Amino acid sequence: MVEKRSPKAGTKAVWAGEEKGMWERSTQVPVVHSVSFGYDDLDEWLLVGQGRKSGHIYSRNTNPTVRVFEEKVRDLEGAEAATGFATGMAAISNTLFTLLSPGDRVVSIKDSYGGTSKLFLEFLPRFQIEAALCETTDHEEIERAIGQGCTILYLETPTNPTLKIVDIERLARAAHEVGARVVVDNTFATPINQTPLDLGADLVIHSATKFLGGHADALGGVVCGPSDLVGRIYHYREITGASLDPMAAYLLLRGMKTLHLRVERQNQSAMKIARFLQRHQAVENVYYPGLESHHHHDLAERQMRGFGGVLSFTIRGDFEAVRDFLPRLSYAHRAANLGAVETVVGPPAVTSHVECTPEERKAMGIPEGLIRYSVGIEDVDDLIFDLDEALSSIAR
Ligand SMILES: *Cc1c(COP(=O)(O)O)cnc(C)c1O
Repeated sequence: MVEKRSPKAGTKAVWAGEEKGMWERSTQVPVVHSVSFGYDDLDEWLLVGQGRKSGHIYSRNTNPTVRVFEEKVRDLEGAEAATGFATGMAAISNTLFTLLSPGDRVVSIKDSYGGTSKLFLEFLPRFQIEAALCETTDHEEIERAIGQGCTILYLETPTNPTLKIVDIERLARAAHEVGARVVVDNTFATPINQTPLDLGADLVIHSATKFLGGHADALGGVVCGPSDLVGRIYHYREITGASLDPMAAYLLLRGMKTLHLRVERQNQSAMKIARFLQRHQAVENVYYPGLESHHHHDLAERQMRGFGGVLSFTIRGDFEAVRDFLPRLSYAHRAANLGAVETVVGPPAVTSHVECTPEERKAMGIPEGLIRYSVGIEDVDDLIFDLDEALSSIAR
């Protein structure tokens, strides 16, 4: 008898969630641009409306194209359930507002995504929800903060933009001891490189806008985890309305079919580029968890299958040197994005952390001249040549 084996990530990226013959035997997922779904049989309509029979009623709640996207991410993350959102920030904010009530406390890290920090520091306090933001690499400090009690431990690893690594397994254990739920933003790693649910997380979130979609042409977000928790978050989104559009879901799905190919290439290229930059005389510091010199390289090796496609670095000289350097790159969009097939470059001081003051960036350990470099799928020799040319010309 042939042994039943579960497919690997590359196979899931292509096949997971694809419903056969969804429309006139099409082999590709149709974009169902329909607001509502019709029923002649009132009894059936009622059963679907009550969630006792599968089907769709209204696309703010569920939609067939969006469902396939949710299924594909769910399978890749090894979760029981998943629900899609209009953006990554919608996924994050809806998750927090579903699970938190006045008087609750969140423990997180200083290096979380800019928008997420704003939720912690600007929006949650208005509902008497306190956020304790700990030093990202100080696991003892995070454990002490968890020990003081919390409802949610919210983590992100590798972090943006300095690629710090946080020990999910260790901190999840501490959080579960005080009865907290563990939420991990897995945008930078993707399920190809890291599956937080296997490391003890309760929920995993993505900005699908980045690596999952991979083509910088659609916004989206998703939350994966156990059915009961995801069901509550789905209900909040169903009512508050941050639903994923079917066309965006289609673009994300199409992008995800090559997720494993893209991420494997980006892992390899980022490693080569990090090593090249580390040796270059015009470069001061390189931040990449794949480098042996990285503060938590061993931890990254233990918890990740690949080190990811984003790295950052500083060059010698002041911000003027950065201003001079960036336009010299031929193969990089100078833009506030990452995870695309094209290389994207930008200083956090004008992109992800533009809302912070220089002092705030300094407190977060983000040098003013830091350059974030999201490696695309171009030929790595061309990218290295491009970087070398630009670095050498400013050094002159
Ligand atoms: C971009 C990003 C988000 C926000 O996603 P949007 O789709 O832009 O709302 C959240 N977390 C991380 C790590 C990101 O890079």
